[in-house]
Amino acid sequence: MAGTTKQTINHWAAGAEFAGTSGRFGDVTDPATGAVTAQVTYASVEDADQIVGAAAKAFPGWRDTSLTKRVQVLFRFRELLNERRDEVAAIITAEHGKVLSDAAGEVNRGQEVVEFACGIPHLLKGGFTENASTGVDVHSVRQPLGVVGIISPFNFPIMVPLWFTPIAIAAGNAVVLKPSEKDPGAALWMAKLWQEAGLPDGIFNVLNGDKVAVDALLGHDQVKSISFVGSTPIAKYVYETATAKGKRVQALGGAKNHMLVLPDADLDLAADQAVNAGYGSAGERCMAISAVVAVGGIGDELVDKIKERTEKLRTGDGRRGADMGPLVTQQARERVTGYIDAGQQAGATLVVDGRDVTPDADGSGFFVGPTLFDHVSPDMAIYTDEIFGPVLSIVRVESYQDAVELINKNPYGNGTAIFTNDGGAARRFQNEIEVGMIGINVPIPVPMAYYSFGGWKSSLFGDTHAHGVEGVHFFTRGKVITSRWLDPSHGGINLGFPQNA
Ligand code: NAD
Repeated sequence: MAGTTKQTINHWAAGAEFAGTSGRFGDVTDPATGAVTAQVTYASVEDADQIVGAAAKAFPGWRDTSLTKRVQVLFRFRELLNERRDEVAAIITAEHGKVLSDAAGEVNRGQEVVEFACGIPHLLKGGFTENASTGVDVHSVRQPLGVVGIISPFNFPIMVPLWFTPIAIAAGNAVVLKPSEKDPGAALWMAKLWQEAGLPDGIFNVLNGDKVAVDALLGHDQVKSISFVGSTPIAKYVYETATAKGKRVQALGGAKNHMLVLPDADLDLAADQAVNAGYGSAGERCMAISAVVAVGGIGDELVDKIKERTEKLRTGDGRRGADMGPLVTQQARERVTGYIDAGQQAGATLVVDGRDVTPDADGSGFFVGPTLFDHVSPDMAIYTDEIFGPVLSIVRVESYQDAVELINKNPYGNGTAIFTNDGGAARRFQNEIEVGMIGINVPIPVPMAYYSFGGWKSSLFGDTHAHGVEGVHFFTRGKVITSRWLDPSHGGINLGFPQNA
């Protein structure tokens, strides 16, 4: 707030920081210590209008910049990101809480999309048909949309913006990014990096804030598309609101990811992977495993192995070499401990309790230790709800078929994995499971940048997944041109519908 010495994280518009005039701010905290470290500016409708206006003004010049020059900016941005990964990883750890190596890993996965977007000249090539009709040629082009809005969640402050931004920019659009208000520092850092890479002012802009900022983007006439990532209720709201305004929308929602373990699997390797995928980033990943489905009689042995590994994890400040950091806010911490209470009350067996963890950290951070529940049934809240914390549930089922039914009944369909050495079972699973991204002995099957990322059912509204060829399509519009160079043979009057000859 005014009068304090805390850093203020402003908007970024037309190549410079922009304070806006709303007078509204939110706290940014260091989750490992609980200290408020900065204030982030919350936009008013007028502020949002100015930022969108800056993007709209810059768009025509960028659209008409040659592909060669656009791609040179992408290559420079890729080099800078690669060199300065540690800088932004430190910002992410300080605002989100995930451990430094995990933050650096997030930057790597975002960088893959930048590398993919460096190949945009090939991806934007259209088709050409000579002599489609006598003396008539047909060709197709893809053109940018204009100003595009990207709204991102707290859990990947740089990777999720990078799922969309490089492709949108490479294709010739102007971007307005609304990052999460919980950890907005990486977006402002990225804005400066784009500028250093030579991107013209106004092509990448940051709009900070809460629902006011989101609604201003959704309703703005000059914003042509919305790429949203966040929880399912907000994804649905964003999809319905923005499509009603005639915008193109891809809205990625929440998740509840299952890991199916068949009796023939190597249970040590499966236990390793369950722990990695359940507790990495304190479970604050949309591709985290939250339910391990143990098939047949392997439940006791698998639980013992997961327990042994879970108890060895070190929870603490992500800058101190811990395996797992804190949750993002005190509110998130209370939410997760509330679910642990509820799981116990509902009769699940609490095998490892993270509520009484002693973290390696100073101050009063938002820690919950890794938590393991056994004998979880599908009616319990710890199974039905997306907890988004370090809580792993073991659900025991009799057969492979029971497991598939359970997963297919779930309203979410983001990611899932099967652990088995039986190729036939794995092949059958990939065919009949109703989920968008599937791992075979891979617990977090996040597709490479040249494939597309997206779930099914309540994990995605709209039909276009993020990045890959689908991303290029999302950020461009197709046009088909039919042409001929008139000569006397084309003369004469004929009011009939044009037909090929
Ligand atoms: P969130 O839905 O609370 O917030 C996402 C964005 O929406 C933020 O920018 C936020 O400011 C904005 N927002 C929040 N409340 C709003 C409201 N009432 N009206 C309009 N805008 C609003 O999500 P989060 O807590 O930041 O992120 C975690 C969620 O994101 C989890 O559900 C997770 O599964 C999901 N997620 C999904 C994917 C995916 O690829 N499917 C990836 C990452 C995260």
